[in-house]
Amino acid sequence: MRKIFLFSTIQFLFLLVFAQNDAPDIEMMKKIRQEAMENSKVMDIAFHLTDVSGPRLTASPGYMNAANWAKTKLAGWGLKNASLEPWGEFGKGWQQERSYIAMTKPYYQPFIAVPRAWTGSTPGNTIMKSDVTLIKAKDSAELIQYIGKLKNKIVMTWMSDTLRPSFSADASRYADTVLTRMAAAVPRENAQRPAQGNRPVNANFATMQAFQRTLTKLMNDEKPALVLSMNGRGNDGTIFVSGGGQYTKDAVEPPASLMLSSDDYLRLQRLVNAGIKVEIETDVKTRFFTDDLKGYNVIAEISGTDPKLKDEVVMLGGHLDSWHGATGATDNAAGCAVMMEAVRILKTLNVQPRRTIRIALWSGEEQGLHGSRNYVKNHLADPVTMQLKPEHGKVSAYYNLDNGGGKIRGIYLQGNTAAGPVFSKWLEPFADMGAATVTINNTGSTDHVAFDAVGVPGFQFIQDPLEYSTRTHHTNMDTYDHLIPDDLKQASMILASFVYNTAQRDEKLPRKELPKAREVPARPF
Ligand SMILES: [Zn+2]
Repeated sequence: MRKIFLFSTIQFLFLLVFAQNDAPDIEMMKKIRQEAMENSKVMDIAFHLTDVSGPRLTASPGYMNAANWAKTKLAGWGLKNASLEPWGEFGKGWQQERSYIAMTKPYYQPFIAVPRAWTGSTPGNTIMKSDVTLIKAKDSAELIQYIGKLKNKIVMTWMSDTLRPSFSADASRYADTVLTRMAAAVPRENAQRPAQGNRPVNANFATMQAFQRTLTKLMNDEKPALVLSMNGRGNDGTIFVSGGGQYTKDAVEPPASLMLSSDDYLRLQRLVNAGIKVEIETDVKTRFFTDDLKGYNVIAEISGTDPKLKDEVVMLGGHLDSWHGATGATDNAAGCAVMMEAVRILKTLNVQPRRTIRIALWSGEEQGLHGSRNYVKNHLADPVTMQLKPEHGKVSAYYNLDNGGGKIRGIYLQGNTAAGPVFSKWLEPFADMGAATVTINNTGSTDHVAFDAVGVPGFQFIQDPLEYSTRTHHTNMDTYDHLIPDDLKQASMILASFVYNTAQRDEKLPRKELPKAREVPARPF
């Protein structure tokens, strides 16, 4: 009986010690909360990254403005080693310099339009006027009839989309029921890598892609003066617009190409199709930059102070590059502003972290996570061969934010079961701020994936969706005014606390099993 009692006591004490290991420093959490909520600079940072810097397409002047501003600001706050770190070759920079289009017949009507990135200019130095050629083709074979007929024309391709009113609100927050479902999710087998191959290929999709390829080739060969296009996802003046040409060094410059608002495009299409005389006046000027083809990330550090742990690192970041239709406020100035604010908070509180804290603002995310993937390859490991570099063992965690400007509701574990109880403890002080959910689920499509791919714990937070998928993500409406200060303050507070807790923890965060090499290099005989 006594033995059992003794055993239970030891077990209890062990559990107590173990549990306390991850209990956050409540005094420090209070200080972080106070600085984040009462002395926030997050909207000022966002203002500089959006309104002041402009669109931040990778390798564009706007990106470099924002990157240099961020570097200088981080250094000014006292971070060490602030630099623009080249990660490899990206390709050409590009920016829009003039964009005007209006219908002048049968009556005058200016159109809402944005040039597609990495596309060219309309001919001449002045406004051109022209009628419109409407391409109507069911498939690639039917495009042949247009060969030799499009040079110097303004062309559009028949779109079968129809617009519908929005019956549900553009913005939303996660309901408690949704968060409860996320928290209850169970680990999926092979959650880390979805099975490749044997996926049924959607025949329609393949045909559509083939048609698009033929159409792009036709346009590049024929050299129309201007190509008009629309994206049916956009309505009410919101345009979803991204790239229309290639950025690689040797890519050919495609013709000028404007993404029109769906409303304007469909009206124009109906008029041309009905045989009514239409005239367009337009002037589109874009510029390519080839002086420096390298891509750059912004990096800065708060040095660690514990003799045993200061060589280890906690990383936080988000992508600084954006599309160009607006100023990329929710994608992803918001995430960068929160990360910068988190390190500002920690510096202001004069924390002396045990591990080094490193912030990284990535470029090339929108073109395929280039900045983070190359950083990982240069510093940590090759995801194909899984050859590890010494620093691979030193990074405790990487925290990412890139799901818009919504406040944090919790965190995705990315399949890392062992990190769950740690994060639950760390979220406890912020339960009153709506952030409590820890889900085993994965989330993809952004820079934490680059770290996860080589077995370094990489996490992305759960954020309220707000208007991200309906209105702002990759659109001409992604502007400062769509940011909500209280949401970004809350997120900055949680980021500062997570980074602090990770830096102070006795152990590095638990890791998942190391991914296997995807390809074994041939062994010489
Ligand atoms: Zn993004």
